[in-house]
Parts: sequence; structure tokens; C-alpha cells
Amino acid sequence: MNIRITTRHLVLGLCAQMLSLSAFGYTTYARWPTNNATLRASAVSFPAGNAYRTALGTVASRWNQNPSNFRFTQLYNDASVGLGNGQSEVWFSSDASLCSPAVTYSWWNGSGQLTETDICFYNAAGYTTSMNKTSIWPYGGAYRPFETTAMHEYGHALGLGHEADEYNIMGSDWNHVSLADQTARSYSGEDANDGAVALYGLWSGGVIEDVGVVHMKRTGASGEYSSHGLTKMYNTSGVELPYTTFNGQRRYQVTKGQQVRVEFTYENNGESYQNTSVGMYLSTNAVITTADTQLQTFPFGLGRGDVSTYTRTITIPATLTSGNTYYIGAYVDWNNTLAEITSTNNTAYHIIRVN
Ligand SMILES: [Zn+2]
Repeated sequence: MNIRITTRHLVLGLCAQMLSLSAFGYTTYARWPTNNATLRASAVSFPAGNAYRTALGTVASRWNQNPSNFRFTQLYNDASVGLGNGQSEVWFSSDASLCSPAVTYSWWNGSGQLTETDICFYNAAGYTTSMNKTSIWPYGGAYRPFETTAMHEYGHALGLGHEADEYNIMGSDWNHVSLADQTARSYSGEDANDGAVALYGLWSGGVIEDVGVVHMKRTGASGEYSSHGLTKMYNTSGVELPYTTFNGQRRYQVTKGQQVRVEFTYENNGESYQNTSVGMYLSTNAVITTADTQLQTFPFGLGRGDVSTYTRTITIPATLTSGNTYYIGAYVDWNNTLAEITSTNNTAYHIIRVN
């Protein structure tokens, strides 16, 4: 990862207190005195009908699925944006020194209470609002996904700092996504959600649960940021299988009857410990459903704020057709025992080609 293309986080404050590390991964630097922040999007940058306005709304509403008591109020059509004007605003700027690729400016008082957070995005940062695999960086596309960057900046806007120790949105943002079929999805994730709960307490309006699986994982760190990359498939000795690139992912070469290890990252983004089952599936396409061939199941048990990159050994069925492409899927809560705020993140897949 190149530090020049990571999202910068600058904090301007009255308080000398900087980021405080917690044992749970996330970092925090301040909080809003109430459990709410109103962010006003620029009328010029986010006009009605504009795809960036839609994306911003998606980001705010997705953050508002987090299990803490914090909620964003997203307003639009702000006619006058600027730093330190007493309102928290979001806009695009052509000033690279101020906003490249995106920067959150925060003010807080001596009691650690936020008074203003402004988010500006550099308009030549190469953003796209598309979350299609072919468009975005993590799958070899040419563009930086705006949604993931905005998810990261909104995390700063509620009081979170950077985090390098876990797979999380407050590290590298563009490869912190789930994937269903050919479309990636931005999300706040277990660690940032856990940080939000630490700042604002558990959501008092009911129970918010969400488990998920992704084929991204932490690969290291670059300064304050965790680095992320694709999970892999290995042979039984732990050596990555040979592959070619296919649809932006590694398509692994396997043989019929071969035992392989399949790696995914499992998360609990909700508020309490969850026990359920993971089904491993063989599919002829990238949509993983219970109508596909179930290869095995194993138990899932993770608490709030927990993430686990885990490798499972499976056997490639001997009945597959040589030369064909298949998909190995993981499906969390395939038997639908949990009540979740979303199940769009319950599957992930690897691509294989049978020799
Ligand atoms: Zn940042």
C-alpha cells in the first residue's frame, strides 16, 4: 500500500489529547455531546439527482445500522461550506493540499466533546460511485470507491481514529468491502462499530445484530492504517494454489478430489455474541445460495467487535467437469437462524478452475 493514496486524517483541536489506543482495536479521539451529528452536504458538490449525493446517503444510512446509540443526520443543499463555521459540512474541493484524497477536520472542546467536523474530498482523487468489481481498485479497476472513503471519513466524524491492528474501515478503506455476485458493498464493520459502542453505548432502540463474511483480510500495516488484501486458497501444506486472474480475482487451479484450504474473514458487526453455522458451497456462478451444493458446515461463534480470518479444508468434488469454472462459497447463517439488520454480507466466494 502506498501512503500517498491512503485517506488522511487531520485533527485540529483545542485539546492536546490525541488518539487513545484501546485493547479492542479501535481508537477514539472525541465524541459528540449528544448521540447525533448533523452533516450538511454542499449544494454544489452533491446536487439533487447526482450519484455522489446518492452514495453519501448510502454511507450515512449504512453507518446508521451500527449497534451503538450514535446516528448521523444527513442534510443536503448547504449553500455555504467552510472550515470552522460552526456547522459540520461535506464537500468536494479542487484544493489538493486541503483535501487530498479526503480529509476530516475536527474541533472539540476541553471536555473531549466534538463541536464541528468537516469532510472534504479532493475532486481529482479518481473517485467513482460505482461499486462494480470492474470499476474499483480492489479488483483491478481504475477508480477509488467513493463509498468506502466516505465510510472512513464518517468514522472520523463520529470520533474514531485510525486503526492498524485489525481488518477495519479505519485502516485502508477501499479494500474493506463485502462482495455479492459482481457488486462490492461498503460497510463500517465490526471494529468501527465496536468503537462507536465504546463512545456512545449500545443502541437503545432495539437489538441490532449483523454477522458477515468477506474475502478480504488484514495483510499488515502502513503507519496508522491496516493494510488489506484478498483472502486466498492453499494446498494442504499451506502453499497458495496456482492461479490466473479472472474477473478481478484469483481463479485457482484445482484438481478433482483435491483437498484444499479455503480462507475467508468472518465478522460480528452487531451488538452481541452470535452462534450460528457456516455452510461451504460449490456453485456454478458467483451467486452463493442454499440451492448450490453444500460441501460441509461448521460452527460460527463470534462476539461484538470480533473478526477472524479462518481457513477451512474442503475436498473438491470428483464429479466436476474439467476445464470449467466454479465458485467456492462461504455462507454465514445459511440456515437463517439469526435476525439481522442485513444479510447482504452473509456470503463470499473464491473462484476455481478444475484441471
Ligand atoms: Zn483517516
